[in-house]
Amino acid sequence: MDFPKDGMPEFLRFPECQRWTVYNQYKIYTPTEAECITMSRDSGLTALTHFLQDEHVWVDPNSGISRIYNPFTEAPELFLEFAALGRTEQPRKDKILDFLYRYGDIFNEHGHQSLKIGQWNKGSNVTELHREARLCYYALRLYEGLFNNSTEALKTRVCDLLSHLIECSHIPIVVDNDENNGVKNGSYTDYLPLEVYIQRKLLSGQIIDTASFLLVNVINQKVHNMDMKSPILPICFYRFDYKNKKSLPAFYMTWVVPSLLQAIWLLFFLKITGQIEQEYRICPVCEEPIIKPRKNQLYHEGCRQVYHNRIKREVLRLWKEGKSIDEIAAETAIDTEKIKKWVKKGRV
Ligand SMILES: [Zn+2]
Repeated sequence: MDFPKDGMPEFLRFPECQRWTVYNQYKIYTPTEAECITMSRDSGLTALTHFLQDEHVWVDPNSGISRIYNPFTEAPELFLEFAALGRTEQPRKDKILDFLYRYGDIFNEHGHQSLKIGQWNKGSNVTELHREARLCYYALRLYEGLFNNSTEALKTRVCDLLSHLIECSHIPIVVDNDENNGVKNGSYTDYLPLEVYIQRKLLSGQIIDTASFLLVNVINQKVHNMDMKSPILPICFYRFDYKNKKSLPAFYMTWVVPSLLQAIWLLFFLKITGQIEQEYRICPVCEEPIIKPRKNQLYHEGCRQVYHNRIKREVLRLWKEGKSIDEIAAETAIDTEKIKKWVKKGRV
């Protein structure tokens, strides 16, 4: 089922302002040393040689365009899809390519157009792309953890996100406005690296507050791309509307979203502030979202069997401990007939 268009704020619906291009050809490739030297020389930026010798996304714009789309109206699940790329510790090329073919590259597509191998233009660095996906993944897990997890589990998620931020060197400075620490001589003067602030807050034991604070700081930083100083900005524009036999200007507001990565974070921002609904459900086995689940779908396709086996092992373990069928049923909420069947088989 598609996302209801009415759910998206009006100013994000203008297709002419929020469009991203998907090309017909992408590849993930590490240029040879000779190719790196040629590219650096051609671009006049010789310092690039070393930097180019990484695995990058390469785009062939001559292959033509397969899709031009507005993620806010056509792909509101984009945040979830991108976060899923960060689920594994190492980048998975097949998954990344699959994402590129559906949504395009995450950074500004005109960023490195002067760098080419043959027809192919240089796109994102694969390690960086995966790092960004992993940040989304940890942020999503932290958000989910706020509502249905134990204090200890939530603490782990705070630490996961924080250490990943440090790994990415994405540590913003925050104003320490805790009453006891921050206000000095009547003004807020204590600026701290986020990391120090969070660690201090963790010690105070206010885990939900700490987690929420971390989450909004990460979102604000990523949405507005503070490192690269290209925030999302509201702008005014006009179009001519034909009324009473006259063309008259009509004025509109829209937001300029510079990169697809910022669009991805903006979707998450819209979700957690309750401005859009996204159809997903957290799978109890892997704790990852199932995007657009079927009506009665509780697990990912691959997770159902894992869940089944896990429960079965638990039943057999309890049986070996000497528990009765009724006791096991009470403990695991599994039907007694099913338990009998498993126990009978398990005994052989
Ligand atoms: Zn699952």
